[in-house]
Amino acid sequence: MKYCPMCAHPITYQIPLNDNRHRFICSKCQYIHYDNPKIIVGILPYYKNQILLCQRAIDPGYGLWTIPSGFMECDETVEDGARREAFEEVGIHCESLYLFVIYSLPKISQVYMLFLTELPSEDYSIGTETLDAQFYMFDKIPWNHIAFSVVRFSLEKFINHYPITKHKLFIR
Ligand SMILES: [Zn+2]
Repeated sequence: MKYCPMCAHPITYQIPLNDNRHRFICSKCQYIHYDNPKIIVGILPYYKNQILLCQRAIDPGYGLWTIPSGFMECDETVEDGARREAFEEVGIHCESLYLFVIYSLPKISQVYMLFLTELPSEDYSIGTETLDAQFYMFDKIPWNHIAFSVVRFSLEKFINHYPITKHKLFIR
């Protein structure tokens, strides 16, 4: 960051008064730029003993499998953001949401907030950021082609610890 977004004056990088870490500060109007983590919202959708995964059509992770998720927008709740992403990526309407995973990635300043939702049917469609989408049985997850550590963590948490995966529908 070189110039102030408020007055276009050159920016300095220093610790503000009564603060404890470096920030970008405008030397003219004293604007302080606080750089905080981005929130990514998403949904782990399941129907009976299957999870709906989508294959990424964009980098990072082109061609790898993920769950519907994306950056939260400024004018929405986390639930609305998660529902929006699920509709955009796989055309599903998610009603009741259960907060299932909060996952911090401090090295890249991101926080994932992922919800679990039970789908009413196997209906889905494929959005523009998705190459393909598919229901996977709990024991047929493509573990070698999962996009991100947070997706792997969430799938493992669901499959290993969530009560419905121990249900009689779970065929091994
Ligand atoms: Zn300024």
